Amino acid sequence: MSAQIINGKEVSQQHLARISAEVRQRKENNLRTPCLAVVLVGDDAASAVYVRNKKLACEQVGFESLSYELPADTSQVDLLRLIDELNDNPKVDGILVQLPLPPQIDSQTVLERILPGKDVDGFHPYNVGRLAVKMPLMRPCTPKGVMTLLEAYGVNPEGKKAVVVGASNIVGRPQLLELLLARATVTICHSATQNLPEEIAAADILVVGVGKPNFIKGEWIKPGAVVIDVGINRQENGKLCGDVEFEAAKARASMITPVPGGVGPMTIATLLENTLSAARLRDKKTATA
Ligand code: NAP
Repeated sequence: MSAQIINGKEVSQQHLARISAEVRQRKENNLRTPCLAVVLVGDDAASAVYVRNKKLACEQVGFESLSYELPADTSQVDLLRLIDELNDNPKVDGILVQLPLPPQIDSQTVLERILPGKDVDGFHPYNVGRLAVKMPLMRPCTPKGVMTLLEAYGVNPEGKKAVVVGASNIVGRPQLLELLLARATVTICHSATQNLPEEIAAADILVVGVGKPNFIKGEWIKPGAVVIDVGINRQENGKLCGDVEFEAAKARASMITPVPGGVGPMTIATLLENTLSAARLRDKKTATA
């Protein structure tokens, strides 16, 4: 068997086209143009690339974007002051603070300062909690992007055995909640998991976000499984690879995401979807105020 490749680039472009059309429609209906504020602290090269890609995607769909590039020695008080200003700014629908933040700043304090309705990354405990109680509002972008990919390829998690490897706040944990919401039977694995190959062998749907190149061996994968590789690792030769041994896994799986071109583009598309939802939410609030 050779797995079908799940083309995240293509699915994300379809989503961006739909968002673009809605933005045009909003303009015709004299509704506000959605606006995303992006905050970058310091000069981490990878973060700068992520921020640039997010701004370009905003341009592509016709959003407005505000950009704040702050020096690495910015104090937590100053960053919180900026968040307060953006929370109060009626023009701004979504606020994104690029992680990681420099060591003098506590990320959790900053993320919790963003108004939940403007938290388009979906990292605020309020939004994670809403996902946990089956009332999602702003959904963490990468896990929601994975669900969009599964849907686009006709994979319904209901009743399936799903295994998530990695339990971080931004990938694994919300992925568990998304799959549970979609009525899969979910197992989550982390660095204390005892027998990882055995857990993986049971998975109809496997989602991996660990951050270790080629960590998941192809031979562990259940024949016919759907494999979603969230990992992005830079190899010594400069090329990117995922957390799953791609060729060996492809020979056993029924569908698999490549790295790059799989989950990555969906994360940005979901961020823009969340920003559009945030704008719609604020339209409703204004209408009922
Ligand atoms: P992270 O915060 O470092 O979390 C890694 C997770 O992997 C932790 O839960 C850790 O377990 C688990 N882990 C580590 N070693 C393990 C082992 N031997 N067996 C099982 N689990 C193990 O990383 P992250 O931020 O979630 O990112 C993970 C990967 O996804 C990275 O490659 C990152 O670049 C990528 N990523 C991609 C996107 C995208 O858009 N495609 C978005 C975000 C992240 P413990 O909890 O026990 O420590």
